[in-house]
Amino acid sequence: MLPANEKMKNLKELRQYLDIPRDITIVVHRNPDGDAIGSALGLYHVLNQMGHTLRLLAPSEYPPVLNWMPAVEEFIIYDLKQQEAMDALKRADLVFALDFNALDRIDKMGEYLNTSDQTIVMIDHHLDPEPYATLQISDQTASSTCEVLYLALEQMGMMSYVNKTVATCLYTGILTDTGAFAFSLSSRLFRIAGELLDLGVDNNLLQDLLFNQLPEKHLRLLGYCLYERMEILPEYHTGIITLSKKDYERFKIQRGDTEGIVNYLLKIKGIKLAAFIHEQPTITKLSLRSKGDFSVKEIAQKYFKGGGHKNAAGGHSYKGLEATVKKFKSVLDEYKDQLADPVPAEI
Ligand code: 5GP
Ligand code: MN
Repeated sequence: MLPANEKMKNLKELRQYLDIPRDITIVVHRNPDGDAIGSALGLYHVLNQMGHTLRLLAPSEYPPVLNWMPAVEEFIIYDLKQQEAMDALKRADLVFALDFNALDRIDKMGEYLNTSDQTIVMIDHHLDPEPYATLQISDQTASSTCEVLYLALEQMGMMSYVNKTVATCLYTGILTDTGAFAFSLSSRLFRIAGELLDLGVDNNLLQDLLFNQLPEKHLRLLGYCLYERMEILPEYHTGIITLSKKDYERFKIQRGDTEGIVNYLLKIKGIKLAAFIHEQPTITKLSLRSKGDFSVKEIAQKYFKGGGHKNAAGGHSYKGLEATVKKFKSVLDEYKDQLADPVPAEI
């Protein structure tokens, strides 16, 4: 094991370190999404070809819509196998931390890493990375961790390992983190996406596997949210959708069923801020989205113990649904000047 913070100052040193077979653990954040799982598996399939011993860790389960991803079944889920996950973490020569900027996104595993002298390589694109890694590969202008990983592989001269399987994993993360090429775009990203297509990625198939697999109940739940549980606050150009514990029981809502519901609010003309506030058994969670310069990250951080990006953030409160909604509305009033104007409808 490398003494932490003494070696591996740059990608060149990481590349040299990877010349010898190592024991490597790749860890992603709680509630992993397509970018977390895609980047982890992309890296896994690269390192596998190089002969490293590999383990994949996630604090909680990945969404079933990613079940088809190559080697996704290799993930050790901390929530399900705590001892095995901790052992995999402790045994590693090197830990890759993918798609998160703070150790609290991996719960107990983060608490362990915080006090260990493990060598950690962070690959990420979130704002304000905390200095937990030995080597921090963080690009906040990138659409996704998959984009950052692709650039790192290029810089390390490892593109010969980027085959169709790796390309498919990376393209998946790009698709999910850009909303299928709707935002966080750049000419660099299109260059990379083009190269991934040249490696054999099947765009149509992936879009279908990722975005057109909703269970019927999901669409019915969406209908209920839009018809019964949506509130528009025109003076703040804000939309709110709420779900109570009772709703969760009535619709037998499971993890992933509420994914994307918040985005529908932004389809309403003029709406600048969208909030999906849902009551879980112990906490009430907020999913926030915004358009333009309005930062939901600030609201999530300042008032709801959370964080995220400028236009997509989340947080939680220990109060019930009603009290949390009330608090959210009072927070809106703090921002009333910024929220006074609608999103411009002209170029
Ligand atoms: P979502 O609304 O989809 O759950 O989360 C949107 C984004 O907000 C995520 O990509 C993540 O970056 C951030 N986020 C959500 N929940 C939390 C949280 O509890 N803490 C922090 N720091 N970020 C969060
Ligand atoms: Mn990401």
